Amino acid sequence: MRWSLNLGSVGGTAIRIHVTFLLFLVWLGAIYYRQGGAEAAWQGTLFIVILFLCVLLHELGHVFAARRYGVKTRDVTLWPFGGIASMEQMPEKPSQELIVALAGPAVNVVIAAGLLLWLGPRLDPQNLTQIENPAVSMAAKVAGANIILVVFNMIPAFPMDGGRVLRALLAMRMGNARATEVAATIGQGFAVVFGILGIFYNPMLIIIALFIFLAASGEAAQAQLRAVAQGALVSDAMITEFQSLGTSATVNDAAEALIRTTQTEFPIVDGSGKLRGVLTRDAMIKALKERGPETPVLDVMQSDIPTVPARAKLDTALRSLMQKGRPVVGVTDAQGRLIGLLTVENLGEMMMVHSARPEVPGGPWGNARG
Ligand SMILES: [Zn+2]
Repeated sequence: MRWSLNLGSVGGTAIRIHVTFLLFLVWLGAIYYRQGGAEAAWQGTLFIVILFLCVLLHELGHVFAARRYGVKTRDVTLWPFGGIASMEQMPEKPSQELIVALAGPAVNVVIAAGLLLWLGPRLDPQNLTQIENPAVSMAAKVAGANIILVVFNMIPAFPMDGGRVLRALLAMRMGNARATEVAATIGQGFAVVFGILGIFYNPMLIIIALFIFLAASGEAAQAQLRAVAQGALVSDAMITEFQSLGTSATVNDAAEALIRTTQTEFPIVDGSGKLRGVLTRDAMIKALKERGPETPVLDVMQSDIPTVPARAKLDTALRSLMQKGRPVVGVTDAQGRLIGLLTVENLGEMMMVHSARPEVPGGPWGNARG
């Protein structure tokens, strides 16, 4: 992820801080300095470091809970409003997702409860809400900060943990895709409320609102795609009617094909039917301008195009299409010959068809499979 710094790793999970988290820390530090000079700034910095550790422990709560269900986490990135653990996937079972989502806030509940017990009667409950007040004891501030972390993270909106808890609870009653849709709508409602509150009270809320809104849309789109891909094979979704180019073709031949067809990516196929690479429209236009029409397509194509067998599961193919950022994935038959293409655009069309079609018993692909 860009705009984040690597701090090291815990059990195979990289720990990163997002730049906005650093800005948030600097902002808090400045407030302390203004209020009480160097001594307060030192105390403030210590508090900030402890706060940072609490957020990190929260994230590791998620990471270790997910590991119980065999889900690995590549990295944890800390943002001003908590952290995001980029897990390979969330556990499919709602009960497991519920536990993974709750494991983070549970860590902060334990920290806060421990500190409250330790403080006992010495604690003035008012102090818990005054974490920016240098006169308040460190233990009370850290307890207060942990309570705020719990409350904030349990807001039922993606990417907050509360959003996942809500989705998991809904998914126990309705399907996963429908539950995500409902949870995302509720989350976007919260985002709008935050945005309006932010205009009047705190501009930071507007940024958070925007982030929640985008995360909710992304989550909904991904869940929809997963629902459509579930149980489908690559052959259900691939493009089978397309124009390909031979290995001796020139950029000029490609340009003619571009005009004749609606395609924007052209596979280059050799004599034995194997995929050698793909020439995109952008690469073609660039080559035409800079290297001339007689340039062989082999010189300007993108050659590291992944291929999948037609009988492979669609969700595996989806992963290689999205993660590797390639324009297309080639689909091959048992002999390794190119018989189809998968593009993001045609998957989008497939989703449109799927959502317009009435529900078919036995899942969306029940009929096609026979
Ligand atoms: Zn969390």
